[in-house]
Amino acid sequence: MACIFYKASAQAEPYNFAAGPAMLPKAVIEQIRQDLPDWQGSGQSILEQPFTSDAFKSLMRQTEMDLRQLLAIPANYRVLFLQGGASAHFALLPMNLLAAGQSADYLESGHWSRKAIAEARRHTPLNVIASGADSGFQAIPARHQWRLDPRAGYCHVTSNETANGLQLQHFPELAVPLVADMTSDFLTRPLPIERFGVIYASTQKNLGVAGLCLVIIRDDLLRPARAGLPSPFSYALQAQQQSRLNTPPTFALYCLALMLRWIRDQGGLAHMAAVSLEKSALLHDAIDSSRLYICRQRVDDRSRINLCFHLRDERQLEAFITQAEHEGLHNLRGHAAVGGIRASLYNAMPLAGVERLRDFMVEFERRHG
Ligand SMILES: *Cc1c(COP(=O)(O)O)cnc(C)c1O
Repeated sequence: MACIFYKASAQAEPYNFAAGPAMLPKAVIEQIRQDLPDWQGSGQSILEQPFTSDAFKSLMRQTEMDLRQLLAIPANYRVLFLQGGASAHFALLPMNLLAAGQSADYLESGHWSRKAIAEARRHTPLNVIASGADSGFQAIPARHQWRLDPRAGYCHVTSNETANGLQLQHFPELAVPLVADMTSDFLTRPLPIERFGVIYASTQKNLGVAGLCLVIIRDDLLRPARAGLPSPFSYALQAQQQSRLNTPPTFALYCLALMLRWIRDQGGLAHMAAVSLEKSALLHDAIDSSRLYICRQRVDDRSRINLCFHLRDERQLEAFITQAEHEGLHNLRGHAAVGGIRASLYNAMPLAGVERLRDFMVEFERRHG
Protein backbone atom coordinates (compact mmCIF):
# COMPACT_ATOMS: atom_id res chain seq x y z
CA MET A 1 0.00 0.00 0.00
CA ALA A 2 2.20 2.82 -1.25
CA CYS A 3 0.66 6.08 -0.07
CA ILE A 4 1.84 9.49 -1.07
CA PHE A 5 0.64 12.15 1.31
CA TYR A 6 0.44 15.79 0.41
CA LYS A 7 1.02 18.71 2.74
CA ALA A 8 -2.20 20.61 3.44
CA SER A 9 -2.20 24.04 1.82
CA ALA A 10 -1.89 26.97 4.19
CA GLN A 11 -4.55 29.23 2.67
CA ALA A 12 -7.62 30.19 4.70
CA GLU A 13 -9.87 27.20 4.73
CA PRO A 14 -12.68 25.84 6.87
CA TYR A 15 -11.87 23.75 9.94
CA ASN A 16 -14.08 21.10 11.50
CA PHE A 17 -13.93 20.97 15.30
CA ALA A 18 -16.55 18.21 15.59
CA ALA A 19 -16.20 15.62 18.36
CA GLY A 20 -16.96 12.74 16.01
CA PRO A 21 -17.19 11.63 13.34
CA ALA A 22 -14.48 14.18 12.97
CA MET A 23 -12.03 15.69 10.52
CA LEU A 24 -9.59 13.50 8.63
CA PRO A 25 -6.24 14.60 7.24
CA LYS A 26 -6.56 16.00 3.72
CA ALA A 27 -3.94 13.51 2.54
CA VAL A 28 -6.06 10.60 3.77
CA ILE A 29 -9.19 11.91 2.03
CA GLU A 30 -7.15 12.30 -1.14
CA GLN A 31 -5.86 8.73 -0.89
CA ILE A 32 -9.42 7.44 -0.40
CA ARG A 33 -10.51 9.38 -3.46
CA GLN A 34 -7.75 7.75 -5.51
CA ASP A 35 -8.44 4.24 -4.24
CA LEU A 36 -12.19 4.40 -4.55
CA PRO A 37 -12.48 3.36 -8.20
CA ASP A 38 -9.38 1.16 -8.31
CA TRP A 39 -7.65 -0.23 -5.22
CA GLN A 40 -4.03 -1.36 -5.64
CA GLY A 41 -4.46 -1.70 -9.40
CA SER A 42 -7.01 -4.48 -8.88
CA GLY A 43 -9.56 -2.76 -11.10
CA GLN A 44 -11.97 -3.01 -8.16
CA SER A 45 -12.99 -0.45 -5.63
CA ILE A 46 -11.93 -0.89 -2.02
CA LEU A 47 -15.70 -0.98 -1.42
CA GLU A 48 -15.96 -4.13 -3.54
CA GLN A 49 -13.18 -6.20 -1.94
CA PRO A 50 -14.18 -9.55 -0.41
CA PHE A 51 -12.91 -9.67 3.15
CA THR A 52 -11.63 -13.18 2.43
CA SER A 53 -9.39 -12.06 -0.45
CA ASP A 54 -5.63 -12.33 -0.02
CA ALA A 55 -5.32 -8.60 -0.64
CA PHE A 56 -7.75 -7.74 2.14
CA LYS A 57 -6.27 -10.27 4.59
CA SER A 58 -2.90 -8.72 3.87
CA LEU A 59 -4.32 -5.25 4.58
CA MET A 60 -5.60 -6.49 7.95
CA ARG A 61 -2.25 -8.09 8.81
CA GLN A 62 -0.37 -4.94 7.83
CA THR A 63 -2.79 -2.74 9.79
CA GLU A 64 -2.25 -4.82 12.90
CA MET A 65 1.53 -4.70 12.41
CA ASP A 66 1.47 -0.92 11.95
CA LEU A 67 -0.60 -0.51 15.11
CA ARG A 68 1.71 -2.83 17.05
CA GLN A 69 4.70 -0.84 15.89
CA LEU A 70 3.21 2.58 16.69
CA LEU A 71 2.22 1.56 20.22
CA ALA A 72 4.94 -1.03 20.90
CA ILE A 73 2.25 -3.57 21.75
CA PRO A 74 3.78 -6.59 23.53
CA ALA A 75 3.39 -10.05 21.99
CA ASN A 76 0.96 -11.24 24.68
CA TYR A 77 -1.72 -8.81 23.53
CA ARG A 78 -4.22 -9.50 20.76
CA VAL A 79 -5.65 -6.83 18.45
CA LEU A 80 -9.31 -7.29 17.45
CA PHE A 81 -11.18 -5.37 14.75
CA LEU A 82 -14.83 -5.49 15.81
CA GLN A 83 -18.18 -3.89 15.14
CA GLY A 84 -20.70 -2.30 17.45
CA GLY A 85 -18.97 0.90 18.49
CA ALA A 86 -17.63 1.61 21.96
CA SER A 87 -21.21 1.75 23.28
CA ALA A 88 -21.81 -1.90 22.40
CA HIS A 89 -18.57 -2.81 24.16
CA PHE A 90 -19.86 -1.14 27.33
CA ALA A 91 -22.03 -4.29 27.58
CA LEU A 92 -19.69 -6.70 25.80
CA LEU A 93 -16.82 -6.08 28.25
CA PRO A 94 -18.58 -7.61 31.29
CA MET A 95 -20.06 -10.36 29.10
CA ASN A 96 -16.61 -11.34 27.82
CA LEU A 97 -14.37 -10.64 30.80
CA LEU A 98 -16.30 -11.61 33.91
CA ALA A 99 -17.29 -14.94 35.39
CA ALA A 100 -20.94 -15.18 36.49
CA GLY A 101 -21.45 -13.12 39.66
CA GLN A 102 -18.01 -11.49 39.48
CA SER A 103 -18.14 -7.71 39.86
CA ALA A 104 -16.18 -4.92 38.20
CA ASP A 105 -14.84 -1.55 39.36
CA TYR A 106 -15.70 1.65 37.47
CA LEU A 107 -14.34 5.18 37.73
CA GLU A 108 -17.12 7.72 37.14
CA SER A 109 -15.43 10.72 35.55
CA GLY A 110 -18.04 12.17 33.19
CA HIS A 111 -20.66 11.59 30.52
CA TRP A 112 -19.07 8.59 28.79
CA SER A 113 -18.04 6.70 31.89
CA ARG A 114 -21.59 7.17 33.17
CA LYS A 115 -22.87 5.58 29.97
CA ALA A 116 -20.40 2.73 30.35
CA ILE A 117 -21.52 2.20 33.95
CA ALA A 118 -25.25 2.29 33.14
CA GLU A 119 -24.83 -0.26 30.39
CA ALA A 120 -22.49 -2.59 32.30
CA ARG A 121 -24.85 -2.56 35.29
CA ARG A 122 -27.41 -4.42 33.25
CA HIS A 123 -24.96 -7.31 32.97
CA THR A 124 -22.88 -7.34 36.11
CA PRO A 125 -22.75 -6.16 39.70
CA LEU A 126 -20.40 -3.20 39.80
CA ASN A 127 -18.72 -0.84 42.19
CA VAL A 128 -18.15 2.85 41.42
CA ILE A 129 -14.68 3.39 42.89
CA ALA A 130 -14.89 7.21 42.84
CA SER A 131 -17.04 9.83 41.17
CA GLY A 132 -16.42 13.31 39.85
CA ALA A 133 -20.16 14.06 40.05
CA ASP A 134 -19.75 16.18 43.21
CA SER A 135 -17.36 18.48 41.35
CA GLY A 136 -19.80 18.71 38.45
CA PHE A 137 -17.23 16.64 36.53
CA GLN A 138 -14.71 19.46 36.57
CA ALA A 139 -11.98 17.19 37.93
CA ILE A 140 -11.09 13.50 37.80
CA PRO A 141 -11.01 11.83 41.24
CA ALA A 142 -7.35 11.34 42.18
CA ARG A 143 -5.87 7.85 42.41
CA HIS A 144 -5.78 7.90 46.25
CA GLN A 145 -9.58 8.38 46.28
CA TRP A 146 -10.29 5.23 44.27
CA ARG A 147 -11.90 2.59 46.51
CA LEU A 148 -10.69 -0.47 44.63
CA ASP A 149 -12.05 -3.96 45.20
CA PRO A 150 -9.17 -6.46 44.99
CA ARG A 151 -11.63 -9.16 43.87
CA ALA A 152 -13.02 -7.13 40.95
CA GLY A 153 -12.69 -8.72 37.52
CA TYR A 154 -11.34 -5.46 36.13
CA CYS A 155 -11.24 -1.71 36.72
CA HIS A 156 -12.75 0.46 33.96
CA VAL A 157 -11.68 4.03 33.21
CA THR A 158 -12.45 6.48 30.41
CA SER A 159 -9.11 7.92 29.36
CA ASN A 160 -10.65 11.03 27.85
CA GLU A 161 -14.10 12.37 28.74
CA THR A 162 -15.10 13.73 25.34
CA ALA A 163 -18.12 15.72 26.57
CA ASN A 164 -16.59 17.08 29.78
CA GLY A 165 -13.10 17.91 28.55
CA LEU A 166 -11.24 15.80 31.12
CA GLN A 167 -8.31 13.48 30.43
CA LEU A 168 -6.38 11.00 32.54
CA GLN A 169 -2.72 11.95 32.31
CA HIS A 170 -1.39 8.90 34.17
CA PHE A 171 -2.42 5.27 34.15
CA PRO A 172 -1.77 3.53 37.45
CA GLU A 173 -0.49 0.01 37.86
CA LEU A 174 -3.36 -1.90 39.41
CA ALA A 175 -3.67 -5.39 40.86
CA VAL A 176 -6.70 -6.08 38.65
CA PRO A 177 -6.74 -5.62 34.85
CA LEU A 178 -7.15 -1.98 33.86
CA VAL A 179 -9.74 -1.55 31.09
CA ALA A 180 -9.85 1.78 29.25
CA ASP A 181 -12.29 3.36 26.82
CA MET A 182 -9.90 5.42 24.67
CA THR A 183 -12.37 6.30 21.94
CA SER A 184 -11.52 9.99 21.90
CA ASP A 185 -7.78 10.06 22.60
CA PHE A 186 -6.37 6.81 21.24
CA LEU A 187 -3.13 7.37 19.30
CA THR A 188 -2.68 10.93 20.50
CA ARG A 189 0.20 9.87 22.80
CA PRO A 190 2.41 6.87 23.60
CA LEU A 191 0.90 4.41 26.12
CA PRO A 192 2.29 1.98 28.70
CA ILE A 193 0.35 -0.92 27.16
CA GLU A 194 1.54 -3.46 29.74
CA ARG A 195 -0.49 -1.61 32.41
CA PHE A 196 -3.73 -2.44 30.63
CA GLY A 197 -5.86 -5.54 30.40
CA VAL A 198 -8.03 -4.09 27.63
CA ILE A 199 -7.98 -0.90 25.57
CA TYR A 200 -10.90 -0.21 23.26
CA ALA A 201 -11.70 2.64 20.89
CA SER A 202 -14.25 3.37 18.19
CA THR A 203 -12.47 4.68 15.13
CA GLN A 204 -14.66 7.64 14.10
CA LYS A 205 -13.09 10.18 16.45
CA ASN A 206 -9.41 9.99 15.75
CA LEU A 207 -8.73 6.95 13.56
CA GLY A 208 -10.93 7.22 10.52
CA VAL A 209 -14.62 6.59 9.96
CA ALA A 210 -17.50 5.00 11.87
CA GLY A 211 -18.26 1.28 12.02
CA LEU A 212 -15.13 -0.17 13.61
CA CYS A 213 -14.07 -0.65 17.21
CA LEU A 214 -10.52 -1.64 18.09
CA VAL A 215 -10.02 -3.92 21.06
CA ILE A 216 -6.51 -4.60 22.37
CA ILE A 217 -6.68 -7.38 24.93
CA ARG A 218 -4.11 -9.24 27.02
CA ASP A 219 -4.37 -12.83 25.90
CA ASP A 220 -4.92 -14.35 29.36
CA LEU A 221 -8.21 -12.39 29.53
CA LEU A 222 -9.65 -14.20 26.51
CA ARG A 223 -12.05 -16.70 27.96
CA PRO A 224 -15.20 -18.45 26.75
CA ALA A 225 -17.91 -15.80 26.75
CA ARG A 226 -21.13 -16.12 28.70
CA ALA A 227 -23.77 -18.45 27.34
CA GLY A 228 -26.11 -16.59 25.02
CA LEU A 229 -23.55 -14.08 23.70
CA PRO A 230 -23.73 -13.92 19.89
CA SER A 231 -20.51 -15.35 18.41
CA PRO A 232 -19.47 -12.17 16.53
CA PHE A 233 -19.34 -10.41 19.92
CA SER A 234 -17.16 -13.01 21.61
CA TYR A 235 -13.62 -11.64 21.97
CA ALA A 236 -12.21 -15.20 22.26
CA LEU A 237 -13.95 -16.46 19.11
CA GLN A 238 -13.00 -13.37 17.13
CA ALA A 239 -9.39 -13.71 18.31
CA GLN A 240 -9.36 -17.33 17.09
CA GLN A 241 -10.62 -16.18 13.69
CA GLN A 242 -8.34 -13.10 13.23
CA SER A 243 -11.46 -10.85 13.52
CA ARG A 244 -12.94 -12.54 10.46
CA LEU A 245 -15.57 -14.69 12.15
CA ASN A 246 -17.98 -12.61 10.12
CA THR A 247 -17.51 -9.68 7.75
CA PRO A 248 -15.45 -6.97 9.44
CA PRO A 249 -16.20 -3.32 8.55
CA THR A 250 -13.88 -3.37 5.54
CA PHE A 251 -14.02 0.29 4.54
CA ALA A 252 -13.44 1.50 8.10
CA LEU A 253 -10.50 -0.91 8.37
CA TYR A 254 -9.02 0.45 5.17
CA CYS A 255 -9.41 4.03 6.50
CA LEU A 256 -7.74 2.98 9.76
CA ALA A 257 -4.84 1.60 7.72
CA LEU A 258 -4.41 5.00 6.04
CA MET A 259 -4.61 6.84 9.37
CA LEU A 260 -1.92 4.63 10.92
CA ARG A 261 0.40 5.30 7.97
CA TRP A 262 -0.33 9.01 8.22
CA ILE A 263 0.46 9.08 11.95
CA ARG A 264 3.68 7.16 11.35
CA ASP A 265 4.70 9.55 8.55
CA GLN A 266 4.01 12.55 10.81
CA GLY A 267 6.58 11.18 13.27
CA GLY A 268 4.66 8.65 15.38
CA LEU A 269 3.01 8.98 18.76
CA ALA A 270 5.70 11.04 20.50
CA HIS A 271 5.26 13.60 17.74
CA MET A 272 1.44 13.46 17.96
CA ALA A 273 1.68 14.00 21.73
CA ALA A 274 3.96 17.02 21.30
CA VAL A 275 1.64 18.57 18.71
CA SER A 276 -1.39 17.81 20.89
CA LEU A 277 0.24 19.61 23.81
CA GLU A 278 1.17 22.58 21.63
CA LYS A 279 -2.34 22.90 20.14
CA SER A 280 -4.16 22.58 23.45
CA ALA A 281 -1.78 24.96 25.26
CA LEU A 282 -2.35 27.59 22.58
CA LEU A 283 -6.10 27.50 23.21
CA HIS A 284 -5.94 27.08 26.99
CA ASP A 285 -3.58 30.07 27.23
CA ALA A 286 -6.00 32.15 25.18
CA ILE A 287 -8.91 31.13 27.43
CA ASP A 288 -7.04 31.65 30.70
CA SER A 289 -5.81 35.10 29.69
CA SER A 290 -9.27 36.28 28.66
CA ARG A 291 -12.14 37.87 30.56
CA LEU A 292 -14.77 36.51 28.21
CA TYR A 293 -14.05 32.76 28.27
CA ILE A 294 -13.67 30.40 31.16
CA CYS A 295 -12.46 26.82 31.40
CA ARG A 296 -13.65 25.39 34.73
CA GLN A 297 -11.83 22.06 34.61
CA ARG A 298 -9.01 21.43 37.04
CA VAL A 299 -5.85 22.39 35.15
CA ASP A 300 -4.10 19.01 35.58
CA ASP A 301 -7.16 17.10 34.35
CA ARG A 302 -7.92 19.22 31.30
CA SER A 303 -8.24 17.32 28.06
CA ARG A 304 -5.75 18.13 25.33
CA ILE A 305 -8.14 16.66 22.78
CA ASN A 306 -11.65 17.97 23.56
CA LEU A 307 -11.32 21.47 24.99
CA CYS A 308 -14.56 22.39 26.76
CA PHE A 309 -15.10 25.95 27.90
CA HIS A 310 -17.82 28.53 28.40
CA LEU A 311 -18.52 32.16 27.77
CA ARG A 312 -18.82 33.84 31.16
CA ASP A 313 -22.01 35.39 29.80
CA GLU A 314 -23.83 32.42 28.27
CA ARG A 315 -26.12 34.79 26.37
CA GLN A 316 -23.21 35.40 23.98
CA LEU A 317 -23.02 31.74 23.01
CA GLU A 318 -25.32 31.89 19.99
CA ALA A 319 -23.44 34.89 18.57
CA PHE A 320 -20.15 33.06 19.12
CA ILE A 321 -21.32 29.91 17.34
CA THR A 322 -22.94 31.79 14.47
CA GLN A 323 -19.94 34.05 13.84
CA ALA A 324 -17.52 31.14 14.12
CA GLU A 325 -19.53 29.20 11.52
CA HIS A 326 -19.44 32.26 9.31
CA GLU A 327 -15.64 32.30 9.61
CA GLY A 328 -15.45 28.63 8.58
CA LEU A 329 -14.87 27.35 12.12
CA HIS A 330 -17.42 24.57 12.33
CA ASN A 331 -19.07 22.39 14.98
CA LEU A 332 -17.89 24.27 18.06
CA ARG A 333 -21.07 23.78 20.10
CA GLY A 334 -20.52 21.87 23.35
CA HIS A 335 -22.07 18.46 24.05
CA ALA A 336 -25.81 18.73 24.71
CA ALA A 337 -25.33 17.43 28.27
CA VAL A 338 -22.74 20.10 29.09
CA GLY A 339 -23.41 23.18 26.92
CA GLY A 340 -20.90 25.90 26.17
CA ILE A 341 -18.16 25.50 23.56
CA ARG A 342 -16.13 22.43 22.66
CA ALA A 343 -13.15 22.43 20.31
CA SER A 344 -12.05 18.92 19.38
CA LEU A 345 -8.37 18.87 18.42
CA TYR A 346 -7.81 15.39 17.09
CA ASN A 347 -4.61 14.34 15.32
CA ALA A 348 -5.92 15.58 11.96
CA MET A 349 -6.43 19.15 13.23
CA PRO A 350 -3.40 21.19 12.15
CA LEU A 351 -1.87 23.87 14.35
CA ALA A 352 -3.03 26.40 11.74
CA GLY A 353 -6.67 25.49 12.49
CA VAL A 354 -6.17 26.10 16.20
CA GLU A 355 -4.44 29.42 15.50
CA ARG A 356 -7.42 30.45 13.36
CA LEU A 357 -9.77 29.61 16.23
CA ARG A 358 -7.58 31.47 18.72
CA ASP A 359 -7.49 34.55 16.48
CA PHE A 360 -11.27 34.39 16.09
CA MET A 361 -11.72 34.16 19.86
CA VAL A 362 -9.47 37.17 20.47
CA GLU A 363 -11.37 39.15 17.85
CA PHE A 364 -14.75 38.07 19.27
CA GLU A 365 -13.63 39.24 22.70
CA ARG A 366 -12.45 42.57 21.27
CA ARG A 367 -15.91 43.14 19.80
CA HIS A 368 -18.02 41.72 22.63
CA GLY A 369 -15.83 42.03 25.72
C1 LIG B 1 -17.90 8.85 21.22
C2 LIG B 1 -17.56 8.06 22.40
C3 LIG B 1 -18.17 6.83 22.67
C4 LIG B 1 -19.28 6.28 21.81
O1 LIG B 1 -18.79 5.67 20.68
P1 LIG B 1 -19.82 4.91 19.69
O2 LIG B 1 -18.92 4.39 18.63
O3 LIG B 1 -20.80 5.95 19.21
O4 LIG B 1 -20.50 3.86 20.48
C5 LIG B 1 -17.75 6.11 23.77
N1 LIG B 1 -16.79 6.58 24.58
C6 LIG B 1 -16.18 7.76 24.36
C7 LIG B 1 -15.10 8.21 25.27
C8 LIG B 1 -16.54 8.53 23.26
O5 LIG B 1 -15.93 9.71 23.04
